[in-house]
Parts: sequence; structure tokens; C-alpha cells
Amino acid sequence: MEYVTLNNGVRMPILGYGVYQIPDQEECERCVLDAIETGYRSIDTAQAYRNEEAVGRAIKRSGVPREEFFITTKVWISNAGYEQAKASIQESLRKLQLDYLDLLLIHQPFGDYYGTYRAMEELYEAGILKAIGVSNFYPDRYIDLVQFNKVVPAVNQVETHVFNQQHQAQEIMQKYNTQIESWGPFAEGRKDLFANPTLQEIGSRYNKTTAQVALRFLIQRGVVVIPKTVSKDRMEINFNVFDFVLSAADMEQITALDTGESVFFSHYDPQTVEALTGYGKQGL
Ligand code: NAP
Repeated sequence: MEYVTLNNGVRMPILGYGVYQIPDQEECERCVLDAIETGYRSIDTAQAYRNEEAVGRAIKRSGVPREEFFITTKVWISNAGYEQAKASIQESLRKLQLDYLDLLLIHQPFGDYYGTYRAMEELYEAGILKAIGVSNFYPDRYIDLVQFNKVVPAVNQVETHVFNQQHQAQEIMQKYNTQIESWGPFAEGRKDLFANPTLQEIGSRYNKTTAQVALRFLIQRGVVVIPKTVSKDRMEINFNVFDFVLSAADMEQITALDTGESVFFSHYDPQTVEALTGYGKQGL
């Protein structure tokens, strides 16, 4: 495994396993156990995924020492604000059966996330959170948060894949010393990513799949990746990306796939913001 070093010295695996859209508790527990057996030690969950308990059970059942793991969860919009966020973090710890988190993120830049961040800073100072950060903070809100808080976010998790490469956002994060982390490293298969001819052609020269090339491209750019799959075979495929190096010409060819746009929704689009905040207000 390769690691990145966060702005506070904490080491984070550059490859982890994400559990979004695995709401069934038994299925999620099985998936996380399979991922741990495959070698993954970084697990990315969230309050909104409703599977923190399953993740916690899998970690316990695996028998792997706690200190080998890097566990991330995220505070949902409905838990925004100092008091509520603080209580929700304790609830996440209880569900995960953990007494500390390696990384806690604000899931979305909506609601009283300044209050949330103050609660996170406090728990960070207390050592309960080893690192704190944000998710879906685009350059405008990200810079604002950095400018008016003590602790610079260690990580910003944003949609990043071959079709939406986030070069400008990455540069801005580098300027303030925040690690970029990709969500949706396969764009969830949209735009036919797994059959993309450029990725296929490059993969064939290294005897690698399109999925492996898509992950390797991000890793070589220093982007942390957390691919999701429920299939153990695919977990192994996605884990097996450290034995080849894409050439500068390959990297350039893949860079040309960038559209500079989300394949899901834009956090700048009023309708999306209305939908997300409306959903957030409903609670979990
Ligand atoms: P993703 O990892 O881009 O794509 C997952 C999809 O790709 C699934 O349909 C999976 O199918 C398929 N897949 C995985 N490996 C494959 C392979 N080797 N070959 C072919 N198909 C493959 O999507 P994601 O789950 O949205 O993103 C990853 C993680 O990022 C999430 O699990 C979550 O932890 C995080 N995330 C965060 C946010 C946020 O707002 N912060 C948003 C979205 C996601 P199968 O499962 O059927 O194999």
C-alpha cells in the first residue's frame, strides 16, 4: 500500500474502500469483511449511508488490530450545527464501536457547517478525531472555510474521475495544504467508463482493466481513491494497481478525457442545492 501524509502528519492509505449504496446491513458487513481480507484498511462510510453499524461489526469481526485501520465517516446535513454535530459524532463512534476516528468529514457544504466544524475542531484537539476535513466543498466555500477557521481541513473529498478531473480544485487545495480525495473514481460507471476505448487501449498494453487504469491515473496524480464494489473479485482487481506505472504519454491521453463537468450534479446549480438541502432538512 502507498500512503499520503496529511497536513498534520497523519498517514492515510492512498487506496481505500467506499460503502455508499450498500444499505443492507448484512450485505455491507460481508462486503467490508471481504475488503479487509483483500487487504483494504481504509474504509469510507457516512452517517447518511446508514451502514456505520455494519462497518463497525465487520471491523470487530475481522480481528485486525484497530491501529491498522483508517476509518472515515461524515456528518450529514441534518446534524449540522455545534451541539447536534457533536452528539452525532458520538453516535457514529457508538455505531462503529470505535473510540476514535481517523478522519471525520463534513458531508455537504450546507446548513450550519461552521458550527459543525467548531465541534470537530474541539474533538480533534481532544484526540478523538485524528484528522478533520470536508467533502463537496468547491473552491469558493473551501477557501472561505480555510480563511476563517483554525484547523485547515486535512482532506476534501470531491467527485473526481477521468471525466471530471478537478485539476483547478486540486491546485487550490495544494495551495492551502489539503489532500484531495476522489469520490466516484469510476463515475459510478457513467459515460460507459468501463468500456472507454482510451482506457481500454492503455490497459491492454499493461495487461490491466479499464477500472485499474482509471484508478492508477488518479493515484499517480496524488489523489486518494475509495472505489466501491460489492464483488470480492472486483475488490481484488481494484486493489491490484501498484504494480504498473502509466507513462507521461498515457497520463496526457487520459487528461484529454476531462470534460471539467460533473457527471452527476453541480453544487453550483440552484436546483441541486434545493434538492440536497431539502433532503438534508428531512433528517436521517
Ligand atoms: P464508484 O466507486 O465510482 O463506482 C461504483 C460502481 O462501479 C458500482 O456500480 C460497482 O459495481 C462498479 N465497479 C466497481 N469496481 C468495478 C470494476 N473493477 N469493474 C467494473 N465495475 C466496477 O462509485 P461510488 O460508490 O459513488 O464512489 C466510491 C465511494 O466514494 C463511495 O462508496 C463512498 O464511500 C464515496 N462517495 C462519497 C460521496 C460524497 O458525497 N462524499 C458521494 C459518492 C460516493 P458493483 O458494486 O456491482 O461491483
